[in-house]
Amino acid sequence: MTTVGILGGGQLARMLALAGVPLGLRFLVLDPSADACAGQCAPLQVGAFDDQAALARFADQVDVVTFDFENVPAASAQWLAQRVPVFPGPRALAIAQDRLSEKSLFGELGIPVPAFQAVSTRAQLDAALARIGVPCIMKTRRFGYDGKGQFRIRSLADAEAAWDALGAQAGSVGLIVEGFVAFDRELSVVAARSRDGQFKAFPLTENWHVDGVLSASLAPARASQALRAQAIDYARRVAEATDYVGVFALELFCQGQTLLANEMAPRVHNSGHWTIEGAEISQFENHLRAVLGLPLGEPAMRGMACMLNWLGQMPDATAVLSQAGGHWHDYGKSARAGRKVGHATLRAEEATALSCALADVGAALSRPDQVQPVIARLNENGVGGD
Ligand code: AMP
Repeated sequence: MTTVGILGGGQLARMLALAGVPLGLRFLVLDPSADACAGQCAPLQVGAFDDQAALARFADQVDVVTFDFENVPAASAQWLAQRVPVFPGPRALAIAQDRLSEKSLFGELGIPVPAFQAVSTRAQLDAALARIGVPCIMKTRRFGYDGKGQFRIRSLADAEAAWDALGAQAGSVGLIVEGFVAFDRELSVVAARSRDGQFKAFPLTENWHVDGVLSASLAPARASQALRAQAIDYARRVAEATDYVGVFALELFCQGQTLLANEMAPRVHNSGHWTIEGAEISQFENHLRAVLGLPLGEPAMRGMACMLNWLGQMPDATAVLSQAGGHWHDYGKSARAGRKVGHATLRAEEATALSCALADVGAALSRPDQVQPVIARLNENGVGGD
């Protein structure tokens, strides 16, 4: 009997556990919160990620460790790795935890990135603004996610406000200034790499964010064959350079036919949730297979899929469940403004049917703004490439 230990007990751990049950796996989830939602599906150990006694008890009970949360302290990952296999490895995790090191790596690998510069003083912010120009974005190097820890600098007059908002964190988590990319769209590659170097990428996905948080994903992205191949090649370079094991996401901005890398997430990713019903194997099962040294499954799509995120509170399920290809995921969380509480996936064999299903769901749930950009993309001509 193999037990997989997961650091972090949110919806990603929950969906990993759900995917692992058919494989005969057991799970143990470590999370500081007693009501972490993965605890409804797998045994939960309540403890802090930097509590060595908690980590020791955890390590004693598991055969392999992985993450649902990338901001686990690097020292804890290293400590665990001396006792039990940890995937992705602490080095890959450390690179992905720091926006400066991941952007530097992308650059070294020949992957285009927005202009960027690390900043640790107010004077360095001015120097970065002079070099990069405005508009730009100042972000915390570490611990930022879903648009948190970011400040948009629209003109030089915003520098003071940006420093007031984030300057105090320069010493603790570090800051980076990035050029603002006027992208046409946001794309992501979700891919798996196994212990023996096998690499499998899911089809390129297009993503829409609202206030920095994912709102909808469409797969496959309507992009040319050349663009899809380029994106997947970038993901492969990152995986090989970091000796990555498991599933990860590479987030990309697309401007015309140019792709720029924004960041990598060293874990299963929100933009890959559609794979549960939309692909031959889900990102969750492929992650488990990768970290356990099992053969990876084929990431081929079954038709097309659109995922809609539910934030704050769950809407009524009826409209989605009434669709032939409608699937519902309630993470079992209490309602809270902005919190990811669930998602739906709509699957169809072709674009017209998917577009109709989205229009029905958007109307029934009074969420036209969430479905409209996806419908517009599905209705575009000539972006399908081949
Ligand atoms: P991040 O936390 O870096 O993934 O940023 C969250 C969202 O903010 C992204 O998905 C983009 O919509 C937007 N964003 C972040 N960085 C940039 C950038 N350099 N240029 C334009 N938009 C950005």
